[in-house]
Amino acid sequence: MKVLVIGNGGREHALVWGLLRSANVQQIYCVPGNGGTATLERCHTLKLSSDDFEGIARFCTVNNIGLVVVGPEVPLALGITDYLQQHSIKVFGPSKAGAQIEASKAWAKELMNAAGIPTAESAVFTDVNAAKDYVRKQGAPIVVKADGLAAGKGVTVASTVAAAEAALDACFAGQFGDAGQSVVIEECLVGQEASILAVTDGITIRPLLPAQDHKRIGEGDTGENTGGMGVYAPAPVVTSEIMARVQQEVLEPAIAILKQRQIPYCGILYAGLMISPEGVPKVIEFNCRFGDPETQAVLPLLETPLDTLMLACTDGTLAAHPPIEWKTGAAACVVLAAPGYPGKYPKGMEISGIEAAEATGAIVFHAGTSAKDGKTLSNGGRILGVTALGDNFDQAFARTYEAVNAIQFEGKYFRRDIGHRVRSST
Ligand code: ATP
Repeated sequence: MKVLVIGNGGREHALVWGLLRSANVQQIYCVPGNGGTATLERCHTLKLSSDDFEGIARFCTVNNIGLVVVGPEVPLALGITDYLQQHSIKVFGPSKAGAQIEASKAWAKELMNAAGIPTAESAVFTDVNAAKDYVRKQGAPIVVKADGLAAGKGVTVASTVAAAEAALDACFAGQFGDAGQSVVIEECLVGQEASILAVTDGITIRPLLPAQDHKRIGEGDTGENTGGMGVYAPAPVVTSEIMARVQQEVLEPAIAILKQRQIPYCGILYAGLMISPEGVPKVIEFNCRFGDPETQAVLPLLETPLDTLMLACTDGTLAAHPPIEWKTGAAACVVLAAPGYPGKYPKGMEISGIEAAEATGAIVFHAGTSAKDGKTLSNGGRILGVTALGDNFDQAFARTYEAVNAIQFEGKYFRRDIGHRVRSST
């Protein structure tokens, strides 16, 4: 089978890496991929834009592409799945209507409330003064979220009413464009966050191993929010009891209500959870695609061929698919970022030591890189994700950091405390 993968981050490199491990996958085409996917055998870079649905459909038809895997949320929210399906192309990724679960936080909240899914109490506003009145009444801490897609930057966890009001002013002043003209204000949840990515064909839903990301730029979980600085799996905070609750109280009701509303949903449903100190899971957000960096830790533990799992979803046969199999042990992934990230950062730095890092047995997933004249150059804020497996977290992290230390580029930044909750020392 030939597969086409859309996206250019570490998540997509991990997806390509996972798909290439299957003997059934002959060739992969990336739209556009990155410096890492460009070096893989059986993997080709296409000069097509991810919003050129017509060009992608034509390529798929002419080249007999058996499966399209959509990495990022933006093409899904724009309706790439609906478009390609109209051309009889199999797509792993939900419909435009289904992608609203990520593309509109207000929509997702309404869905969660209608389905009785546990989540933070919230209210939606399109008027700044009404929103401020609500914030004053509720008090701080409180969370202000731009309704639409804001590349992970539309959320403010405000510790004071003044900070919440400032966030509201910024949203309604257009900081996030149309995405901020409607705002969700939410109760501030406390606990540990965890990500559960689940595969679904729209009828059956099965979770992958739980993962825990580290969103903040600074050690000790301080500083600005980022796209994610490192992750490990399986996250022990999600005990088997909590996983069973999530399946019953979150994943199954979500799929049931989507089905009831006749919204086609095939692909990943990603539940971003807050697990309270008492062990009660509540949904912070849903995403309609694989998480990044979660995918970089979860897929290396997957034994089941990724393509068969995806095809079971596109074919509506997930219920008949054998149980998902996993390697034992743990996976640890540390993200290497450009200096200045998540603020302004330079690009074009030459990266060395990737082969030495890989020689340790680690997997180096490229996120923001490009390949030029045989060199690998930085091309983004999050540049690489380095993953290693181990019998336990101590071993997995020791291996990951050994590989991280083998990689060099100017101003290399990474957190040394990824996995602090599960390592015996950091
Ligand atoms: P991303 O694109 O990075 O997933 P997002 O913009 O979709 O982010 P959320 O995931 O909803 O936004 O929120 C980002 C972060 O803000 C969460 O990971 C969490 O740390 C924090 N957060 C969001 N909602 C709440 C809440 N109700 N209580 C406490 N913290 C929250």
